[in-house]
Amino acid sequence: MFNTSAPGVFAAGDVRGGSTKQLASAVGEGAAAAIQIRYFLDKLEK
Ligand SMILES: Cc1cc2nc3c(=O)[nH]c(=O)nc-3n(C[C@H](O)[C@H](O)[C@H](O)COP(=O)(O)OP(=O)(O)OC[C@H]3O[C@@H](n4cnc5c(N)ncnc54)[C@H](O)[C@@H]3O)c2cc1C
Repeated sequence: MFNTSAPGVFAAGDVRGGSTKQLASAVGEGAAAAIQIRYFLDKLEK
């Protein structure tokens, strides 16, 4: 959901296509994107 065309670059909040453009959504997406980044980095280490 937060992936972009560039591997390792994630998007959250108003900049993301389909964003609700609401503050609460942007904050939640930021937290969820951070978890996706952690998974991405975990996979790189293996
Ligand atoms: C007038 C107005 C009223 C609003 N009222 C409400 C409301 O009542 N309730 C609600 O839920 N939402 C409201 N919103 C929407 C809410 O503000 C946004 O959904 C929310 O701020 C999005 O957060 P974001 O982090 O995605 O983006 P932003 O808050 O826009 O943050 C993006 C940041 O990136 C920075 N940036 C941009 N380009 C670069 C760059 N090249 N390098 C480094 N930094 C960069 C910008 O300076 C900015 O600080 C309102 C918006 C506006 C404009």
